[in-house]
This record gives sequence, C-alpha cells and structure tokens, in this order.
Amino acid sequence: MLITMKVDASTQATDSVIDMLTTRGFEIHTIRSSGAAVIGVNGKPIPEDLAPSLHTVDGIDYVQMNPHKYPLTARASRPHGTVVQVGDTMIGGDLPAIIAGPCVVEARDQLLSIAHDVKRHGATLLRGGAFKPRTSPYSFQGHGELGLEMLADVREQTGLPVVTEVMEPGQVEMVAHYADVLQIGSRNMMNFPLLRAVSTIDKPVLLKRGFASTIEEWLQSAEYILAGGNDRVILCERGIRSFDQSTRFALDLNAVPLLRELTHLPVVVDPSHGTGRREMVAPMSAAGIAAGAHGLIIEVHPEPDEALCDGPQSIHVDDLAEIVQKAHAISSLMHAPEPIAVPA
Ligand code: PEP
Ligand code: MN
Repeated sequence: MLITMKVDASTQATDSVIDMLTTRGFEIHTIRSSGAAVIGVNGKPIPEDLAPSLHTVDGIDYVQMNPHKYPLTARASRPHGTVVQVGDTMIGGDLPAIIAGPCVVEARDQLLSIAHDVKRHGATLLRGGAFKPRTSPYSFQGHGELGLEMLADVREQTGLPVVTEVMEPGQVEMVAHYADVLQIGSRNMMNFPLLRAVSTIDKPVLLKRGFASTIEEWLQSAEYILAGGNDRVILCERGIRSFDQSTRFALDLNAVPLLRELTHLPVVVDPSHGTGRREMVAPMSAAGIAAGAHGLIIEVHPEPDEALCDGPQSIHVDDLAEIVQKAHAISSLMHAPEPIAVPA
C-alpha cells in the first residue's frame, strides 16, 4: 500500500501516520525530502478495511492499495515530478543540465583545465571517474581516492559540483565524502547491496541504465534507493546492447518519453556511451533533449585520441560549446508556450 500525504501536511501528521502503522506491525518506507511525503507500507497482508479507514486521517491525500512494482518511483507518487538540486543546478526543471568531463580523471592540471573549459562552454557539473569499471583487469582502473581528491580540489577552484562513480558498498562513504553526486554505472545497476548503500546517504545518485536491463528493472533498481530514504535519484539512459555492432551501444531514446510518463524522477541522456563514436555525440545530444531529457552527460577531453579511457567517444572539449547552445535552443523550443509558426 502507498500513502501520499498532502503537500502541506505537517511533519507531525506524517509522523503520526507512520507511528500508527508501525504500531500495527507494518514495515514502513518513507520519502519526504521534497514535495509531498510518500509512505510505502509492507510487511504483512494489509487488511481490506485499512485503506478506507485512512482516507479520513489528517494530512493524507490519497491511498493506493495495489501500487506499482515501483510505487515510490512511479509518476503517481509525485505527479509534478522531482527536481534534484546540485549546487545551483536544477536537474528535472525546464533548463537542460549539462554534465561534462573526462571519462576518467587523469591528472590534476588537466582536470582543472577541462573544468574551466567545460564551465566556459556552459556545463554546470563536472564528471570524471576515479574508480573505473574496466572490462579488462589490465586497463587503467582509475586513481581511486587520489582521483576523488583531485575532483574535490577542482570543485574548490571552479565551483563546479562533481559527479563520480562508486562501484562497491564499502566505497560509498569515501566517495560521498568527496563527490556531490554518486554515479552508479551500467554494470552495477543491479548491484542491490550497492543500491541499498546509496539509499541512506545524503547525496544525489545518478543511476545509469544496465546495458541489458529493461526499463522496468531499471525503475525497480531506483526503487531500492527511494525505499531506503534517498529520493534524489537521476536516471541516465546510456544505451543498451543490440544485435547491431555498428555502434558501441544503441542509445534508447524511446526510454526518455516513456520514463517521463512512468516516473517522476529526472532523466538525463549519455550520448557518449550510447554511441561510442564522437561524431555522433552532437546529433544524439540534440535528439535526447528533443525527446524530453532533463540534461546530458558528455565525455570530453583536450586530446581525445590520447584519453586513457573511452577516447573514441570523447569529443574535443571545445566542441561542447555548440552542443550546449543547441541543447538550450531545442529545450526552449520544446517548452515554448505557444505553437511555433511553420514557415510558409
Ligand atoms: C562512465 O560514465 O564512464 C561509465 C563507465 O559509464 P557506463 O556505466 O554507462 O558504462
Ligand atoms: Mn566512459
């Protein structure tokens, strides 16, 4: 059962609903960090008369007896959508959020110079991996905690909040200490202990889609994070594996409008991993925004062919400027209140 409190319900009203249900032996998951509080009720069979009796309780807006497989993540639990704020950036609002940076943090000076460049070109968040999930154990695995220190240092110098990957539950505390947003990579979308570990932290999570996962599986992974109390989750479509090997992955832009319907969480698109080819990053960025994405996460490098990871899909950092301009132009077209005149 899912109980949605009124937007103006007091904390005491929410607490007293939780107390009443806990006393009756139900297991409760609550989210209340933004908008209306939502209370998930589990744990034992719910008597038929419970829902009707709750309708009259102070502060309750509505009760769903048989909610979705992902009740807290479903659009119905927060029809107006969730906006995740990171620094001054709103992810989930009308302006596209641009996250850019190298695949992997390589060197401090280089990261600083990339950060200045992406900021100048309109990015408001910096990405960069310190712990990298590499297919081969012989590939560069990232600088680990030193990479996190570099990211934090560059944030201090540029003001750009940082997004970086966490791969294991045991690393969550350390990564959360340095990062502004914790990324869960495609390969870990179904790492349930990791999802549980990030569900109790006070930092937003960028949850990438597993490259062989359905949208329903992905939303249930998000549900783990919300169920643990962290509702600041950003979904990232980053491509799925297809029979066709012409591109590294197939960026599934169907996911974007579908997610906008199915969930209240913000959605960003990763055209770098989604294509694997730098010449496709600009058109697929534009397409992602046109499909309704709330932002983009893009790999950039000052010398893409020399990058230590994902060079073929990294654009030159200066090519970001035009992508950002077009993203804003397309987004404002998509949000235009009046129909745009078609040329005669
Ligand atoms: C990355 O962002 O560099 C990355 C490893 O992404 P994904 O998990 O989508 O492959
Ligand atoms: Mn990468």
